[in-house]
Amino acid sequence: MRSCNGCTLCCELLGITEINKPANSKCWNQTRDGCSVYEHRPPSCAQFECAWRLSHVPKNLRPSKTGAVIASNNRMIKCFVRENQVPHKQVMEQLADYAKAGITVVIASGSDRFVLTRSGGMQQIFQGQEAVAPAHHSPCSSRHAASDQDP
Ligand code: SF4
Ligand code: SF4
Repeated sequence: MRSCNGCTLCCELLGITEINKPANSKCWNQTRDGCSVYEHRPPSCAQFECAWRLSHVPKNLRPSKTGAVIASNNRMIKCFVRENQVPHKQVMEQLADYAKAGITVVIASGSDRFVLTRSGGMQQIFQGQEAVAPAHHSPCSSRHAASDQDP
């Protein structure tokens, strides 16, 4: 497994519900040496799977360099970036490969959420707390969106 070695981006971008830490703000448990409560960190932190750390993405996509944290689980890939930012070009290429392979890719930019389509387009599904209905849906169609839980 790769070492974080100075990167702390997930502790900034992700919201941690157990300690009411909002997304996109540095965690108060962060120190220069890492997490000050590491042995007793919340389950969300302990269970978080950073794709870079697990070597699921190329080494040059280190989160502290690209500004993007890619999380993976059995169901989807989720990429976190700062508010009003889009992922770095090389990160987008990696995400596009996942989308082309039929994997659900969600991009979280601040509180906005986008799904990456197979053709590489970004379709917004949440603007802040509001679900964004696809244009072709009638007003009474049910809304389906990827889970907004972090990661
Ligand atoms: S984003 Fe990945 S590499 Fe960076 S601190 Fe979190 S787990 Fe470590
Ligand atoms: S509790 Fe520790 S691991 Fe969790 S976000 Fe804060 S600094 Fe990071």
